Amino acid sequence: MELLFLGTGAGIPAKTRNVTSVALKLLEERRSVWLFDCGEATQHQILHTSIKPRKIEKIFITHLHGDHVYGLPGLVSSRSFQGGESLLTVYGPKGIKTYLETVLDATGTHLTYPLVIEEIEEGIVFEDDQFIVTAKSVVHGIPAFGYRIEEKDIPGALDAEALKEAGISPGPVYQKLKNGETVTLEDGRTVNGADFIGPPKKGRIIAISGDTKQCENVKILAENADVLVHEATFAKGDRELAGDYYHSTTEQAAETAKAAGAGQLILTHISARYQGESVNELVSEAKGIFPNSTAAFDFYEYEVKRR
Ligand SMILES: [Zn+2]
Ligand SMILES: [Zn+2]
Repeated sequence: MELLFLGTGAGIPAKTRNVTSVALKLLEERRSVWLFDCGEATQHQILHTSIKPRKIEKIFITHLHGDHVYGLPGLVSSRSFQGGESLLTVYGPKGIKTYLETVLDATGTHLTYPLVIEEIEEGIVFEDDQFIVTAKSVVHGIPAFGYRIEEKDIPGALDAEALKEAGISPGPVYQKLKNGETVTLEDGRTVNGADFIGPPKKGRIIAISGDTKQCENVKILAENADVLVHEATFAKGDRELAGDYYHSTTEQAAETAKAAGAGQLILTHISARYQGESVNELVSEAKGIFPNSTAAFDFYEYEVKRR
């Protein structure tokens, strides 16, 4: 499970930072990739990575500002030419369906795969036996959401060695023990499955703020998250400016990460006015409050490890 930042700039593309998109690579977990936002030229950025567009299974849009969605029609269209046959689901605020369908319709784009566009509201937007994705409103002047991606715990494996040592032979009884049931064996012994199951693997949690003023809901989304990806459009001195433009500062992002008890903070949506040394400065500002802070750059990859 890795986060691969495809675009980390704010507002308009810059030479060193494209507009927003981040990929969550779930190749080991489900042989697919999820995208969060799809700014203009996201598909060009993908060309520089090992991501296969046909593997993109879901695209979550935080809000409908151009720097987060102008790349969507192109990517959705190209996926047809790149062997895409499987279902693609796009989630986003009200308006995403009209936007995407209008462009595809006006350009006579025919897709070779089923496309589902889901206009979301706060709450659970996706759940299966592996993952649960929750959206919450954030404060950005237009309808905007942050996301929490929670991997479900993986139950511990049955310890076959220990079972053999206890003289319990493989058979249907293994399944019962694996389910944690207490079983009476043919020889009359009673054994508890729980004694033969290893510890469960704790699921990982990722939170993505989208564009937002500092807000309580991001803290809720990031509660005990392994990693929080938070926008930091402004330096710490620009609190007022950040508030006026519905964005956050480095310090505000760090305050939220700290309050949420997150494991790691990754700053993104960084204005082109910050280059080289001044980016290090931004990271220092965040670190002053939350030591495990870093700033994303285009193609920065972060492995989400189990805590
Ligand atoms: Zn933006
Ligand atoms: Zn925005």
